[in-house]
Amino acid sequence: MPELAVIGAGPAGCAAAIALTRAGREVVLLERGTAPRESVCGEFLGPDAAAALRRLGLDLAALGGIPLRRVRIAHGAREADVALPFPAWALPRLVLDGALQAAAGRVLRRGVTVLGAERAGEGWRLRTPSGEIQARQVVLATGKHALRGHPREGAPPPAIGLKLHLAGVEMADAVALLPFAGGYAGLQPLPGGGANLCAALQGPPGDLLARVAAGSALGARLLRDATPLWDRPLAIAGVPYGFRQPAAGPPGLFRVGDQAAVIPSFTGEGVALALQSGLAAAEAILAGREAAAFHAAWRRRSAGPMRWAGLAAWVLRASPSAFAAVGAVGPVARLVAARTRMAA
Ligand SMILES: Cc1cc2nc3c(=O)[nH]c(=O)nc-3n(C[C@H](O)[C@H](O)[C@H](O)COP(=O)(O)OP(=O)(O)OC[C@H]3O[C@@H](n4cnc5c(N)ncnc54)[C@H](O)[C@@H]3O)c2cc1C
Repeated sequence: MPELAVIGAGPAGCAAAIALTRAGREVVLLERGTAPRESVCGEFLGPDAAAALRRLGLDLAALGGIPLRRVRIAHGAREADVALPFPAWALPRLVLDGALQAAAGRVLRRGVTVLGAERAGEGWRLRTPSGEIQARQVVLATGKHALRGHPREGAPPPAIGLKLHLAGVEMADAVALLPFAGGYAGLQPLPGGGANLCAALQGPPGDLLARVAAGSALGARLLRDATPLWDRPLAIAGVPYGFRQPAAGPPGLFRVGDQAAVIPSFTGEGVALALQSGLAAAEAILAGREAAAFHAAWRRRSAGPMRWAGLAAWVLRASPSAFAAVGAVGPVARLVAARTRMAA
C-alpha cells in the first residue's frame, strides 16, 4: 500500500507527486491518459507558474516558452494594447504536461482511470477497471471533472471551454483577449507560427471563428486568414468558474488544482494555481496537517486573485465594451493583471 495516491497527472497532480517523492514519500501517480495530450487551455503562463516550475526543476525558456510582452483587448471598434506588468510565456500544454510527467518519473502509472475513492479504515480504497488500490492519503487532482462520489459542493453554473490551433494568425509577442456575444476568447502565439485560440462561453458553441470575429474589429483582422489545424475544436463542458473548495473535507483527501479553485480563464492563472496548490498540499502532507486545514489555508491564500478575477469576469460578462474601455486604461489593466496573480 503506497502512502499516497495522487489522482490525475496534470500540473497540480504532477507538482504534488514530484515534491512528495523528492521528500522520500512513497507515491503513486495515477493518470487515465496513456500519453500527454492536448487539453483545453489558453497556454498563457505568468511569473508564478514560472516560479513554481523552477521549484520543480523546469525552466520555461528551456522548454521553448515564447516570451509575451503585451496584451491586446478589443470589443467592437474599441482596442487597447497594454504592456504586461510581469514576464509571461506561451507554452503548449502538450509540452508542459509532458515535461511534468517526465519529471514525475517512475511513480507515474499511465492508462489508469480511477472510478471512485472510498474511505477504508484509516486510509482510502480507489477503484480502477483493473482492481483496487489502497493508500493512506489521496491527492485529488482530476482537474475540471469531479471524481464520482466527490462532487464540488456549491460549484457555480458550468461553462464550456474550447480550443483550436490555427495557421495564418500572426501574434508576435502579444496575447489577445477578445470578448464576443456569449463568451470570450484568447489568442496566443504557437511555437513555429500560428496561434492557439481558446474560448470560454455559455451555451452551444456554433461557428467559433465566426463568433469571435464578429465580436471585434481586431478579432476579425487577426482571424482573416486563419485556417483551423484540427477538424473541430477540442471541447470541455462543465467548467465551474469561481468554484472554491470549502475549508472542510474528509480526512486524508487533499483537493488541488481545479479541484480546489477554478479561476476565470482570461487571467491565464489556472496552471499557476494548480502548480502552487500541488506544492502547498505536499508541504501540508509533509508537515502532518489535515486536509481540512490545508483547504482552509489554500482558500485564504487564493482569496485575493479569485476575488479580483471574479469581479473582472463579472464586468466582462455584463459589459464587454466597458471591460475593453477599462482595459484601454493602461494602469487599470496592469493593476487587474497583477492582482489576479498568485504571489510566487
Ligand atoms: C477555456 C480555458 C482556458 C484556459 N486558459 C488558461 C491559460 O491560458 N493559462 C492557465 O494557466 N490556465 C488556463 N486555464 C486553466 C487551466 O487549464 C487549469 O486550471 C489547469 O489545467 C488545472 O490543472 P489541474 O492539474 O488541476 O487539472 P488538469 O490539467 O485538467 O489535469 C487533470 C488530469 O487528471 C486526469 N484525470 C482526470 N480524471 C481522472 C481519473 N478519474 N483517473 C485518472 N486520471 C484522471 C486527466 O487526464 C488530466 O491529465 C484555462 C482553462 C480553460 C477551460
